[in-house]
Amino acid sequence: MTAPVALVTGAADGIGWATARAFADAGYRVVLADLRAEAAAARARDLGPEHIGVGCNVTVEADVVAMLEQVRRDCGRLDAVVNNAGIGSPHLPTTDQRLDEFERVLHTHLSGTFLVSREARKLMAAQGGAMVNISSIAGLGGLPRRNAYGAAKAGIAAMTRSLACEWAAAGIRVNAVAPGYVETALVQKLAADGSIDAAKLRRRIPMGRLGRPEEIAAVILFLCSPAASYVTGAILCVDGGWMAFA
Ligand code: NDP
Repeated sequence: MTAPVALVTGAADGIGWATARAFADAGYRVVLADLRAEAAAARARDLGPEHIGVGCNVTVEADVVAMLEQVRRDCGRLDAVVNNAGIGSPHLPTTDQRLDEFERVLHTHLSGTFLVSREARKLMAAQGGAMVNISSIAGLGGLPRRNAYGAAKAGIAAMTRSLACEWAAAGIRVNAVAPGYVETALVQKLAADGSIDAAKLRRRIPMGRLGRPEEIAAVILFLCSPAASYVTGAILCVDGGWMAFA
């Protein structure tokens, strides 16, 4: 039997890279897609010769179509898709925010998730499968100075529910993970530009620490596994208790 195939976007770093490793360890053949083709190829080589690294900007339709065509050609199937590629942006008062930056954040998360899901669905038609989109606690609760990111991540939660209903009959489950603060380059950048204060965050998180990329990856893998066979349209917080804290 051929190995199941998982596609992870934004796989060169952070949560995406941890997720790619988790799928590989679970016996999947992994397609690692990232803006940086070289970095994606290097990560794929780290995992082993059967894995594939692809350069793909998820907001560019031609890139996404070509990537899924490559998956069809090289793997012939697609069992799991993780829409992880995303960006942060400096936390500014709304009155100081520029429209182009607002649009860039929405476009990356929403258009990227839409395009990859649409094209992946065509390849998954034959055997069904599972998708996991990456939302955020910022899309579920109100965080000041984060309106673009919050709106984008709330949009991803809404898209997840919509796709789950639309594709359930085709045997495709669609769920989202909503991470809290996770130790990655994205969060390091926000700490460096003064957007967040890590010590203050730790005091706000019931578990008293930020998450590790592997802790998000483990839940993504679970949602794509047969153990989650009756789970679709769920938005699962993985946040050390952030959303539970009133
Ligand atoms: P990282 O910045 O560590 O990794 C994101 C990866 O995605 C990078 O390799 C990045 O490339 C790539 N990427 C960015 N834009 C695109 C694009 N248009 N097409 C393809 N690849 C792209 O981020 P995280 O691992 O922290 O975040 C992963 C996801 O998790 C994001 O959706 C983020 O919003 C979400 N998230 C993260 C949280 C956190 O605390 N870290 C909390 C909640 C949600 P490059 O480096 O070249 O930009």
